[in-house]
Amino acid sequence: MLKIVQKLFKDFGGYSVRSCVMKKEKKDKKLISRRSTLKGMGAIGALGFLGSKTAGCNEERFTGAGLTSDSREARKKIFQKVFETAFIDTHEHLPDEGERLNGNYCRYRKRADDWSIIFAHYLDSDMRSVGMSKKDWKKFFSAKVEPSKKWELIKTVWPFIKNTGYGQAVCIAMKELYGVDELSAKTVKKVQAGYEKVRRPGFYNRILCDLAKIESCQVNSGDGFRETSMPTLLMQDIGIVGMFAGPELRLGKPTGVKVASLYDWHEVIDWWFNKYAKYAVAVKSQNAYSRNIDYEKVTTEEAEAIFEKRLREQSLAAKEQKALEDHLFWYAVNKATEHGLPVKLHTGYYAIWDDKKPRMPLSRLAGNPGAATDLCRMSPETRFVFMHICYPYYEAMISIAKHYPNAYVDMCWAWIINPVAAKDFLKKYLVTAPANKILTFGGDYSPVEPVLGHAAIARRGIALALTELVEEEWLSLDGAMELIDPIMHGNARSIFNLGEKEKLLSRVKWG
Ligand SMILES: [Zn+2]
Repeated sequence: MLKIVQKLFKDFGGYSVRSCVMKKEKKDKKLISRRSTLKGMGAIGALGFLGSKTAGCNEERFTGAGLTSDSREARKKIFQKVFETAFIDTHEHLPDEGERLNGNYCRYRKRADDWSIIFAHYLDSDMRSVGMSKKDWKKFFSAKVEPSKKWELIKTVWPFIKNTGYGQAVCIAMKELYGVDELSAKTVKKVQAGYEKVRRPGFYNRILCDLAKIESCQVNSGDGFRETSMPTLLMQDIGIVGMFAGPELRLGKPTGVKVASLYDWHEVIDWWFNKYAKYAVAVKSQNAYSRNIDYEKVTTEEAEAIFEKRLREQSLAAKEQKALEDHLFWYAVNKATEHGLPVKLHTGYYAIWDDKKPRMPLSRLAGNPGAATDLCRMSPETRFVFMHICYPYYEAMISIAKHYPNAYVDMCWAWIINPVAAKDFLKKYLVTAPANKILTFGGDYSPVEPVLGHAAIARRGIALALTELVEEEWLSLDGAMELIDPIMHGNARSIFNLGEKEKLLSRVKWG
Protein backbone atom coordinates (compact mmCIF):
# COMPACT_ATOMS: atom_id res chain seq x y z
CA MET A 1 0.00 0.00 0.00
CA LEU A 2 2.65 2.48 1.08
CA LYS A 3 4.76 1.54 -1.92
CA ILE A 4 2.06 2.27 -4.42
CA VAL A 5 1.35 5.57 -2.70
CA GLN A 6 5.02 6.51 -2.89
CA LYS A 7 5.16 5.50 -6.53
CA LEU A 8 2.09 7.55 -7.32
CA PHE A 9 3.63 10.45 -5.49
CA LYS A 10 6.70 10.27 -7.73
CA ASP A 11 4.65 9.82 -10.87
CA PHE A 12 2.65 12.92 -10.17
CA GLY A 13 5.58 15.18 -9.54
CA GLY A 14 5.82 14.94 -5.78
CA TYR A 15 3.67 17.93 -4.93
CA SER A 16 3.52 18.57 -1.25
CA VAL A 17 0.03 18.96 0.15
CA ARG A 18 1.13 21.69 2.52
CA SER A 19 2.82 23.82 -0.12
CA CYS A 20 -0.29 23.53 -2.26
CA VAL A 21 -2.46 24.55 0.65
CA MET A 22 -0.26 27.53 1.42
CA LYS A 23 -0.37 28.55 -2.20
CA LYS A 24 -4.12 28.24 -2.09
CA GLU A 25 -4.45 30.33 1.03
CA LYS A 26 -3.19 33.47 -0.65
CA LYS A 27 -6.36 35.47 -0.54
CA ASP A 28 -5.77 37.66 -3.61
CA LYS A 29 -5.52 34.71 -5.95
CA LYS A 30 -7.90 32.50 -4.08
CA LEU A 31 -9.78 31.11 -7.03
CA ILE A 32 -6.96 30.59 -9.49
CA SER A 33 -4.82 29.02 -6.83
CA ARG A 34 -7.61 26.64 -5.82
CA ARG A 35 -7.85 25.39 -9.35
CA SER A 36 -4.12 25.05 -9.88
CA THR A 37 -3.81 23.42 -6.47
CA LEU A 38 -6.28 20.77 -7.41
CA LYS A 39 -4.47 20.19 -10.67
CA GLY A 40 -1.08 20.14 -9.01
CA MET A 41 -2.15 17.80 -6.27
CA GLY A 42 -2.58 15.08 -8.84
CA ALA A 43 -3.46 11.63 -7.66
CA ILE A 44 -1.40 12.02 -4.60
CA GLY A 45 -2.00 15.55 -3.44
CA ALA A 46 -4.38 14.37 -0.77
CA LEU A 47 -2.62 11.07 -0.41
CA GLY A 48 -3.70 10.55 3.16
CA PHE A 49 -7.23 10.34 1.90
CA LEU A 50 -7.32 9.49 -1.76
CA GLY A 51 -4.70 6.77 -1.41
CA SER A 52 -6.48 5.25 1.54
CA LYS A 53 -8.47 2.08 1.65
CA THR A 54 -11.80 3.69 2.49
CA ALA A 55 -11.44 6.11 -0.39
CA GLY A 56 -11.10 3.20 -2.74
CA CYS A 57 -7.95 3.94 -4.76
CA ASN A 58 -5.89 1.21 -3.17
CA GLU A 59 -3.43 -1.39 -4.28
CA GLU A 60 -5.66 -4.46 -3.99
CA ARG A 61 -7.84 -3.09 -6.72
CA PHE A 62 -5.02 -3.30 -9.22
CA THR A 63 -3.62 -6.66 -8.23
CA GLY A 64 -6.78 -8.63 -7.44
CA ALA A 65 -6.64 -12.35 -8.09
CA GLY A 66 -8.43 -13.48 -11.22
CA LEU A 67 -7.73 -10.26 -13.14
CA THR A 68 -5.87 -10.47 -16.45
CA SER A 69 -2.92 -8.15 -16.84
CA ASP A 70 -4.96 -6.03 -19.28
CA SER A 71 -7.71 -5.71 -16.69
CA ARG A 72 -5.22 -4.79 -13.99
CA GLU A 73 -3.72 -2.12 -16.22
CA ALA A 74 -7.12 -0.69 -17.19
CA ARG A 75 -8.28 -0.67 -13.59
CA LYS A 76 -5.18 1.08 -12.39
CA LYS A 77 -5.29 3.75 -15.08
CA ILE A 78 -9.00 4.45 -14.61
CA PHE A 79 -8.88 4.55 -10.80
CA GLN A 80 -5.84 6.81 -10.81
CA LYS A 81 -7.38 9.28 -13.22
CA VAL A 82 -10.76 9.32 -11.45
CA PHE A 83 -9.06 9.90 -8.11
CA GLU A 84 -6.88 12.72 -9.46
CA THR A 85 -9.68 14.54 -11.29
CA ALA A 86 -11.37 17.38 -9.42
CA PHE A 87 -15.12 17.29 -9.06
CA ILE A 88 -17.42 20.16 -9.77
CA ASP A 89 -19.95 19.53 -7.01
CA THR A 90 -23.29 20.51 -8.54
CA HIS A 91 -25.51 20.36 -5.46
CA GLU A 92 -25.06 21.11 -1.76
CA HIS A 93 -27.00 22.74 1.09
CA LEU A 94 -23.94 23.94 2.98
CA PRO A 95 -24.32 27.00 5.17
CA ASP A 96 -21.36 29.40 5.09
CA GLU A 97 -18.44 28.24 7.19
CA GLY A 98 -18.96 31.14 9.61
CA GLU A 99 -22.55 30.08 10.26
CA ARG A 100 -21.49 26.52 10.87
CA LEU A 101 -18.85 27.71 13.33
CA ASN A 102 -21.59 29.64 15.10
CA GLY A 103 -23.47 26.40 15.62
CA ASN A 104 -25.97 26.71 12.77
CA TYR A 105 -25.49 23.61 10.72
CA CYS A 106 -28.37 24.46 8.48
CA ARG A 107 -31.25 26.87 8.38
CA TYR A 108 -34.10 24.62 9.26
CA ARG A 109 -32.75 22.42 12.04
CA LYS A 110 -30.72 23.39 15.02
CA ARG A 111 -29.03 20.50 16.71
CA ALA A 112 -26.16 19.83 19.06
CA ASP A 113 -22.80 21.04 17.82
CA ASP A 114 -21.03 17.73 18.41
CA TRP A 115 -20.20 14.57 16.47
CA SER A 116 -23.90 13.78 16.03
CA ILE A 117 -24.01 16.53 13.37
CA ILE A 118 -22.32 14.25 10.88
CA PHE A 119 -25.28 11.85 11.29
CA ALA A 120 -27.83 14.64 11.00
CA HIS A 121 -28.25 14.62 7.28
CA TYR A 122 -29.23 11.94 5.87
CA LEU A 123 -28.33 9.14 8.19
CA ASP A 124 -30.88 10.51 10.65
CA SER A 125 -33.58 9.10 8.34
CA ASP A 126 -32.08 5.60 8.34
CA MET A 127 -31.93 5.90 12.14
CA ARG A 128 -35.72 6.11 12.18
CA SER A 129 -36.45 3.54 9.50
CA VAL A 130 -34.24 1.01 11.29
CA GLY A 131 -36.66 1.31 14.20
CA MET A 132 -35.01 3.74 16.63
CA SER A 133 -37.57 5.42 18.90
CA LYS A 134 -38.32 9.08 18.43
CA LYS A 135 -37.26 9.71 22.03
CA ASP A 136 -33.80 8.19 21.59
CA TRP A 137 -33.43 9.83 18.21
CA LYS A 138 -34.14 13.27 19.71
CA LYS A 139 -31.73 12.62 22.56
CA PHE A 140 -29.03 11.61 20.08
CA PHE A 141 -29.18 15.01 18.38
CA SER A 142 -29.78 16.98 21.59
CA ALA A 143 -27.26 19.43 23.01
CA LYS A 144 -28.39 18.36 26.49
CA VAL A 145 -26.82 14.90 26.17
CA GLU A 146 -23.06 14.47 26.68
CA PRO A 147 -21.44 13.64 23.31
CA SER A 148 -19.72 10.56 24.78
CA LYS A 149 -23.08 9.22 26.02
CA LYS A 150 -24.52 9.21 22.52
CA TRP A 151 -22.97 5.86 21.57
CA GLU A 152 -25.31 4.18 24.06
CA LEU A 153 -28.29 5.59 22.16
CA ILE A 154 -27.20 4.36 18.78
CA LYS A 155 -25.33 1.14 19.53
CA THR A 156 -28.18 -1.27 18.91
CA VAL A 157 -29.13 0.17 15.52
CA TRP A 158 -25.65 1.06 14.25
CA PRO A 159 -24.80 -2.43 12.89
CA PHE A 160 -27.88 -2.28 10.64
CA ILE A 161 -27.36 1.17 9.14
CA LYS A 162 -23.60 1.51 8.85
CA ASN A 163 -23.57 -0.22 5.45
CA THR A 164 -26.16 1.93 3.70
CA GLY A 165 -24.80 4.66 1.44
CA TYR A 166 -25.70 7.20 4.14
CA GLY A 167 -23.87 5.08 6.73
CA GLN A 168 -20.83 4.52 4.53
CA ALA A 169 -20.41 8.25 3.81
CA VAL A 170 -20.32 8.89 7.56
CA CYS A 171 -17.94 5.96 8.22
CA ILE A 172 -15.50 7.29 5.62
CA ALA A 173 -15.68 10.78 7.15
CA MET A 174 -14.95 9.37 10.65
CA LYS A 175 -12.06 7.33 9.33
CA GLU A 176 -10.46 10.02 7.21
CA LEU A 177 -11.09 13.03 9.43
CA TYR A 178 -10.82 11.54 12.91
CA GLY A 179 -8.76 8.41 12.30
CA VAL A 180 -11.51 6.15 13.67
CA ASP A 181 -11.98 2.81 11.90
CA GLU A 182 -15.06 1.67 13.78
CA LEU A 183 -17.49 3.64 15.90
CA SER A 184 -17.83 1.96 19.30
CA ALA A 185 -17.94 2.55 23.06
CA LYS A 186 -14.14 2.63 22.92
CA THR A 187 -13.82 5.11 20.07
CA VAL A 188 -16.69 7.52 20.69
CA LYS A 189 -14.50 9.93 22.67
CA LYS A 190 -11.96 9.95 19.86
CA VAL A 191 -14.73 10.75 17.37
CA GLN A 192 -15.83 13.73 19.47
CA ALA A 193 -12.25 14.93 19.96
CA GLY A 194 -11.69 14.60 16.21
CA TYR A 195 -14.90 16.49 15.51
CA GLU A 196 -13.77 19.41 17.66
CA LYS A 197 -10.29 19.42 16.18
CA VAL A 198 -11.52 19.44 12.59
CA ARG A 199 -14.36 21.93 13.03
CA ARG A 200 -12.21 25.05 13.01
CA PRO A 201 -11.78 28.04 10.71
CA GLY A 202 -10.58 26.84 7.31
CA PHE A 203 -12.20 23.42 7.59
CA TYR A 204 -14.40 23.96 4.53
CA ASN A 205 -11.37 24.46 2.32
CA ARG A 206 -9.58 21.59 3.94
CA ILE A 207 -12.43 19.10 3.58
CA LEU A 208 -13.87 20.21 0.26
CA CYS A 209 -10.78 21.25 -1.69
CA ASP A 210 -7.80 19.51 -0.13
CA LEU A 211 -9.37 16.19 0.81
CA ALA A 212 -12.45 15.70 -1.37
CA LYS A 213 -10.76 17.43 -4.30
CA ILE A 214 -13.76 19.56 -5.16
CA GLU A 215 -13.11 22.63 -7.28
CA SER A 216 -16.37 24.41 -6.50
CA CYS A 217 -19.80 23.63 -5.07
CA GLN A 218 -23.26 24.76 -6.15
CA VAL A 219 -25.34 25.53 -3.11
CA ASN A 220 -29.09 25.67 -2.80
CA SER A 221 -29.70 28.00 0.16
CA GLY A 222 -33.50 28.12 -0.01
CA ASP A 223 -35.69 30.66 -1.75
CA GLY A 224 -34.11 33.60 -3.55
CA PHE A 225 -30.36 34.08 -3.58
CA ARG A 226 -27.78 34.02 -0.84
CA GLU A 227 -24.89 36.46 -0.78
CA THR A 228 -22.34 34.02 0.57
CA SER A 229 -19.03 34.98 2.14
CA MET A 230 -17.34 32.24 0.07
CA PRO A 231 -18.64 33.11 -3.41
CA THR A 232 -16.18 31.17 -5.55
CA LEU A 233 -16.25 28.01 -3.45
CA LEU A 234 -19.94 28.03 -2.51
CA MET A 235 -21.54 29.19 -5.74
CA GLN A 236 -25.28 29.65 -5.43
CA ASP A 237 -28.49 28.68 -7.19
CA ILE A 238 -31.52 30.96 -7.20
CA GLY A 239 -34.24 29.09 -5.29
CA ILE A 240 -37.47 29.54 -7.26
CA VAL A 241 -39.97 27.40 -5.34
CA GLY A 242 -41.27 30.28 -3.24
CA MET A 243 -41.75 32.35 -6.40
CA PHE A 244 -44.42 29.96 -7.64
CA ALA A 245 -45.50 27.55 -4.89
CA GLY A 246 -47.64 29.36 -2.35
CA PRO A 247 -46.27 31.74 -3.54
CA GLU A 248 -44.24 32.89 -0.55
CA LEU A 249 -45.13 36.54 -0.32
CA ARG A 250 -42.17 37.26 2.00
CA LEU A 251 -39.98 36.99 -1.11
CA GLY A 252 -41.42 40.34 -2.14
CA LYS A 253 -39.98 42.11 0.92
CA PRO A 254 -36.36 42.65 -0.16
CA THR A 255 -37.55 43.89 -3.56
CA GLY A 256 -39.49 46.88 -2.24
CA VAL A 257 -42.34 46.07 -4.67
CA LYS A 258 -45.77 46.59 -3.17
CA VAL A 259 -47.65 43.49 -4.29
CA ALA A 260 -51.28 44.21 -5.13
CA SER A 261 -51.65 42.14 -8.31
CA LEU A 262 -50.14 39.31 -10.30
CA TYR A 263 -48.26 41.89 -12.38
CA ASP A 264 -46.57 43.14 -9.20
CA TRP A 265 -45.60 39.58 -8.35
CA HIS A 266 -44.05 39.23 -11.80
CA GLU A 267 -42.04 42.33 -10.93
CA VAL A 268 -40.87 40.66 -7.72
CA ILE A 269 -39.60 37.67 -9.72
CA ASP A 270 -37.98 40.02 -12.24
CA TRP A 271 -36.17 41.79 -9.38
CA TRP A 272 -34.54 38.58 -8.15
CA PHE A 273 -33.35 37.70 -11.64
CA ASN A 274 -32.21 41.21 -12.54
CA LYS A 275 -30.19 41.45 -9.35
CA TYR A 276 -28.74 37.97 -9.06
CA ALA A 277 -28.97 35.96 -12.29
CA LYS A 278 -25.48 36.92 -13.41
CA TYR A 279 -23.99 35.59 -10.15
CA ALA A 280 -26.14 32.45 -9.92
CA VAL A 281 -25.14 29.18 -11.57
CA ALA A 282 -28.69 27.89 -12.03
CA VAL A 283 -32.18 28.01 -10.59
CA LYS A 284 -33.42 25.23 -8.37
CA SER A 285 -36.83 23.87 -7.40
CA GLN A 286 -37.63 21.05 -4.98
CA ASN A 287 -41.36 21.47 -5.54
CA ALA A 288 -41.57 17.76 -6.45
CA TYR A 289 -41.74 17.19 -2.67
CA SER A 290 -45.29 18.59 -2.82
CA ARG A 291 -46.65 17.64 -6.22
CA ASN A 292 -45.70 16.22 -9.59
CA ILE A 293 -43.63 18.40 -11.94
CA ASP A 294 -46.50 18.50 -14.43
CA TYR A 295 -46.56 22.27 -14.98
CA GLU A 296 -48.95 23.40 -17.68
CA LYS A 297 -48.89 26.72 -19.48
CA VAL A 298 -51.49 28.96 -17.84
CA THR A 299 -51.92 32.53 -19.10
CA THR A 300 -51.62 35.65 -16.95
CA GLU A 301 -55.31 36.35 -17.57
CA GLU A 302 -56.29 32.93 -16.22
CA ALA A 303 -54.03 33.26 -13.17
CA GLU A 304 -54.79 36.88 -12.27
CA ALA A 305 -58.00 36.38 -10.30
CA ILE A 306 -56.59 33.35 -8.48
CA PHE A 307 -53.55 35.34 -7.38
CA GLU A 308 -55.80 38.08 -6.03
CA LYS A 309 -57.68 35.47 -4.00
CA ARG A 310 -54.30 34.33 -2.66
CA LEU A 311 -53.50 37.92 -1.70
CA ARG A 312 -56.78 38.14 0.21
CA GLU A 313 -55.72 34.92 1.95
CA GLN A 314 -58.82 33.12 0.71
CA SER A 315 -58.39 29.38 0.39
CA LEU A 316 -57.83 28.12 -3.14
CA ALA A 317 -59.33 25.00 -4.64
CA ALA A 318 -56.70 22.42 -5.58
CA LYS A 319 -57.30 23.17 -9.25
CA GLU A 320 -56.82 26.90 -8.72
CA GLN A 321 -53.67 26.36 -6.68
CA LYS A 322 -52.23 24.21 -9.43
CA ALA A 323 -53.10 26.72 -12.14
CA LEU A 324 -51.44 29.55 -10.20
CA GLU A 325 -48.32 27.50 -9.50
CA ASP A 326 -48.15 26.37 -13.12
CA HIS A 327 -48.40 29.92 -14.41
CA LEU A 328 -45.72 31.23 -12.02
CA PHE A 329 -43.45 28.22 -12.54
CA TRP A 330 -43.25 29.02 -16.23
CA TYR A 331 -42.85 32.73 -15.51
CA ALA A 332 -39.77 31.97 -13.37
CA VAL A 333 -38.47 29.31 -15.76
CA ASN A 334 -38.77 31.71 -18.70
CA LYS A 335 -36.79 34.28 -16.74
CA ALA A 336 -34.10 31.70 -16.01
CA THR A 337 -33.98 30.80 -19.69
CA GLU A 338 -33.72 34.46 -20.75
CA HIS A 339 -30.78 34.84 -18.36
CA GLY A 340 -29.09 31.66 -19.61
CA LEU A 341 -29.57 29.75 -16.35
CA PRO A 342 -30.28 26.01 -16.38
CA VAL A 343 -33.32 24.87 -14.38
CA LYS A 344 -32.54 22.23 -11.75
CA LEU A 345 -35.53 20.19 -10.64
CA HIS A 346 -35.72 17.67 -7.83
CA THR A 347 -37.02 14.34 -9.11
CA GLY A 348 -37.56 11.00 -7.40
CA TYR A 349 -36.82 9.88 -3.85
CA TYR A 350 -37.65 12.07 -0.83
CA ALA A 351 -35.17 13.01 1.87
CA ILE A 352 -35.97 13.33 5.57
CA TRP A 353 -38.14 11.18 7.76
CA ASP A 354 -40.90 13.41 9.03
CA ASP A 355 -42.89 12.14 12.02
CA LYS A 356 -45.75 14.53 11.37
CA LYS A 357 -45.95 13.82 7.66
CA PRO A 358 -44.35 10.47 6.86
CA ARG A 359 -44.42 10.26 3.09
CA MET A 360 -42.83 8.56 0.14
CA PRO A 361 -45.56 8.62 -2.52
CA LEU A 362 -43.88 6.39 -5.06
CA SER A 363 -46.94 6.39 -7.28
CA ARG A 364 -46.54 10.16 -7.69
CA LEU A 365 -42.75 9.98 -8.05
CA ALA A 366 -43.17 7.40 -10.76
CA GLY A 367 -44.90 10.16 -12.72
CA ASN A 368 -41.85 12.46 -12.60
CA PRO A 369 -40.12 11.08 -15.73
CA GLY A 370 -43.28 11.39 -17.84
CA ALA A 371 -43.84 14.96 -16.64
CA ALA A 372 -40.16 15.71 -17.30
CA THR A 373 -40.56 14.79 -20.96
CA ASP A 374 -43.49 17.22 -21.21
CA LEU A 375 -41.36 20.04 -19.78
CA CYS A 376 -38.58 19.34 -22.29
CA ARG A 377 -41.09 19.34 -25.14
CA MET A 378 -42.91 22.49 -23.96
CA SER A 379 -39.78 24.63 -23.65
CA PRO A 380 -37.03 23.38 -25.96
CA GLU A 381 -34.90 26.47 -25.29
CA THR A 382 -34.79 25.76 -21.51
CA ARG A 383 -32.04 23.48 -20.21
CA PHE A 384 -33.59 21.21 -17.58
CA VAL A 385 -31.32 19.46 -15.10
CA PHE A 386 -33.20 16.53 -13.55
CA MET A 387 -31.64 15.82 -10.18
CA HIS A 388 -31.01 12.62 -8.22
CA ILE A 389 -31.52 10.39 -11.31
CA CYS A 390 -35.19 10.29 -10.22
CA TYR A 391 -34.29 7.33 -8.03
CA PRO A 392 -35.65 4.65 -8.16
CA TYR A 393 -36.94 5.42 -11.69
CA TYR A 394 -33.52 6.02 -13.18
CA GLU A 395 -33.83 3.93 -16.31
CA ALA A 396 -36.51 6.33 -17.59
CA MET A 397 -34.22 9.31 -17.06
CA ILE A 398 -31.66 7.81 -19.43
CA SER A 399 -34.26 7.72 -22.18
CA ILE A 400 -35.14 11.39 -21.57
CA ALA A 401 -31.50 12.48 -21.87
CA LYS A 402 -31.15 10.29 -24.94
CA HIS A 403 -34.10 11.91 -26.66
CA TYR A 404 -34.26 15.58 -25.69
CA PRO A 405 -31.33 17.93 -26.43
CA ASN A 406 -32.39 20.11 -23.46
CA ALA A 407 -32.49 17.29 -20.87
CA TYR A 408 -29.57 16.83 -18.46
CA VAL A 409 -29.33 14.32 -15.62
CA ASP A 410 -27.55 15.05 -12.34
CA MET A 411 -26.40 12.18 -10.13
CA CYS A 412 -26.28 14.41 -7.05
CA TRP A 413 -27.28 12.53 -3.85
CA ALA A 414 -27.69 9.28 -5.83
CA TRP A 415 -24.41 7.65 -4.75
CA ILE A 416 -25.49 7.58 -1.13
CA ILE A 417 -29.12 6.66 -1.73
CA ASN A 418 -28.02 3.51 -3.50
CA PRO A 419 -24.36 3.27 -4.55
CA VAL A 420 -24.87 0.14 -6.64
CA ALA A 421 -27.86 1.59 -8.51
CA ALA A 422 -25.87 4.76 -9.16
CA LYS A 423 -23.05 2.75 -10.69
CA ASP A 424 -25.58 0.80 -12.74
CA PHE A 425 -27.19 4.05 -13.91
CA LEU A 426 -23.85 5.52 -14.97
CA LYS A 427 -22.84 2.41 -16.89
CA LYS A 428 -26.11 2.35 -18.77
CA TYR A 429 -26.18 6.11 -19.30
CA LEU A 430 -22.72 6.22 -20.89
CA VAL A 431 -23.58 3.67 -23.56
CA THR A 432 -27.05 5.13 -24.21
CA ALA A 433 -27.21 8.93 -23.99
CA PRO A 434 -24.80 11.72 -24.98
CA ALA A 435 -21.98 12.03 -22.46
CA ASN A 436 -22.03 15.84 -22.38
CA LYS A 437 -25.35 15.89 -20.47
CA ILE A 438 -24.45 13.88 -17.38
CA LEU A 439 -23.30 15.43 -14.09
CA THR A 440 -21.82 12.88 -11.73
CA PHE A 441 -21.50 14.46 -8.31
CA GLY A 442 -23.34 16.59 -5.78
CA GLY A 443 -22.96 15.82 -2.09
CA ASP A 444 -26.38 17.31 -1.23
CA TYR A 445 -25.36 17.78 2.41
CA SER A 446 -25.79 20.48 5.03
CA PRO A 447 -22.89 19.37 7.24
CA VAL A 448 -19.63 19.48 5.29
CA GLU A 449 -17.91 16.43 6.82
CA PRO A 450 -19.84 13.64 5.05
CA VAL A 451 -19.34 15.34 1.67
CA LEU A 452 -15.89 13.78 1.91
CA GLY A 453 -17.41 10.31 2.29
CA HIS A 454 -19.90 10.92 -0.49
CA ALA A 455 -17.16 12.10 -2.87
CA ALA A 456 -15.15 8.95 -2.14
CA ILE A 457 -18.14 6.71 -2.80
CA ALA A 458 -18.86 8.58 -6.04
CA ARG A 459 -15.25 8.31 -7.23
CA ARG A 460 -15.22 4.61 -6.45
CA GLY A 461 -18.52 4.15 -8.31
CA ILE A 462 -17.43 6.16 -11.35
CA ALA A 463 -14.14 4.24 -11.56
CA LEU A 464 -15.93 0.91 -11.20
CA ALA A 465 -18.54 1.80 -13.82
CA LEU A 466 -15.86 2.71 -16.35
CA THR A 467 -13.68 -0.28 -15.47
CA GLU A 468 -16.58 -2.67 -15.90
CA LEU A 469 -17.52 -1.10 -19.25
CA VAL A 470 -13.95 -1.71 -20.43
CA GLU A 471 -13.86 -5.23 -19.00
CA GLU A 472 -17.18 -6.05 -20.66
CA GLU A 473 -15.82 -4.56 -23.91
CA TRP A 474 -18.48 -1.88 -24.28
CA LEU A 475 -15.75 0.77 -24.15
CA SER A 476 -12.08 0.83 -25.06
CA LEU A 477 -9.68 1.86 -22.33
CA ASP A 478 -8.93 5.08 -24.25
CA GLY A 479 -12.64 5.71 -24.66
CA ALA A 480 -13.19 5.31 -20.91
CA MET A 481 -10.24 7.55 -20.05
CA GLU A 482 -11.54 10.29 -22.34
CA LEU A 483 -14.86 10.38 -20.49
CA ILE A 484 -13.44 10.99 -17.02
CA ASP A 485 -12.80 14.71 -17.20
CA PRO A 486 -16.09 15.64 -18.89
CA ILE A 487 -18.35 13.65 -16.60
CA MET A 488 -16.64 14.74 -13.36
CA HIS A 489 -15.71 18.27 -14.24
CA GLY A 490 -15.91 19.59 -17.81
CA ASN A 491 -19.63 19.07 -18.41
CA ALA A 492 -20.50 21.07 -15.29
CA ARG A 493 -18.08 23.85 -16.21
CA SER A 494 -19.71 24.23 -19.56
CA ILE A 495 -23.39 23.67 -18.60
CA PHE A 496 -23.17 26.24 -15.81
CA ASN A 497 -20.82 28.60 -17.63
CA LEU A 498 -18.40 28.48 -14.71
CA GLY A 499 -15.52 30.30 -16.39
CA GLU A 500 -17.54 33.48 -16.59
CA LYS A 501 -19.20 33.00 -13.18
CA GLU A 502 -15.82 32.59 -11.49
CA LYS A 503 -14.57 35.85 -12.96
CA LEU A 504 -17.62 37.74 -11.71
CA LEU A 505 -17.74 36.03 -8.32
CA SER A 506 -14.05 36.60 -7.61
CA ARG A 507 -14.80 40.34 -7.62
CA VAL A 508 -17.83 40.44 -5.31
CA LYS A 509 -17.64 41.26 -1.63
CA TRP A 510 -20.49 39.72 0.30
CA GLY A 511 -21.09 38.41 3.77
ZN1 LIG B 1 -30.77 18.84 -2.11
